[in-house]
Amino acid sequence: MKIAIDGPGGAGKSTLSKKLAKHFNLVYIDTGAMYRAAGLACVRRGINIKEDTEAAISIVDSATIDLIPDSAGQKIILNGEDVTALIRTPEISMAASDVSAIPEVRIRLVEMQRKLAETRDVIMDGRDIGTYVLPDAPIKIFLTASPEERAKRRFLELTERGEACKYEDVLAELLLRDKNDSTRAFSPLKQAEDSILVDTSEMNFEESLSHLITIIEERL
Ligand code: C5P
Repeated sequence: MKIAIDGPGGAGKSTLSKKLAKHFNLVYIDTGAMYRAAGLACVRRGINIKEDTEAAISIVDSATIDLIPDSAGQKIILNGEDVTALIRTPEISMAASDVSAIPEVRIRLVEMQRKLAETRDVIMDGRDIGTYVLPDAPIKIFLTASPEERAKRRFLELTERGEACKYEDVLAELLLRDKNDSTRAFSPLKQAEDSILVDTSEMNFEESLSHLITIIEERL
């Protein structure tokens, strides 16, 4: 059993996927966390990812990135250190988006993602799961919402965590990442032809969850 969930940032992919994983007894794999760990590794070395691609490739190549599923979702370990809580900042979101545009980085992380899915029943979320990582996944969902709604949700999430931020900045960062992610040459964010489009702009969390459960059950 493989379920691919793709879509832009802030659409609710990870929160919904975690719940769906519990409901259908699947292992949840958040591929964005792997790109975030790769971005963090580069930020820590102080490089400009866009300008110094060679350095970024070598930093990511020599890093160990482990994704460990656990009851709370998953842990992400970079070079032996638990960085789960450190990768959710706006700075690391942008670094992840920049590093993810490098084909050599994607090839390495996609190989790890496919391995993780090889021996398990998974629900995997990201940007290119249905189009590239698991093209044969029997259930593919493209989850989206309007940029304003996604920014509102991300803003609430950040402020609830005590992070000072402005709604306008969160919206601008999401729009920039949308643009980066959907215009990169290799494996961009786009809806797979055989995926089901779900727009949650007008749905609350519970409605989105029950809608997705219905879609999945219909296809099982
Ligand atoms: O999903 P999340 O917002 O955590 O992902 C962070 C960044 O990682 C995205 O903006 C995107 O650039 C990149 N990403 C990707 N492919 C994936 C998952 C994430 O390019 N499968």
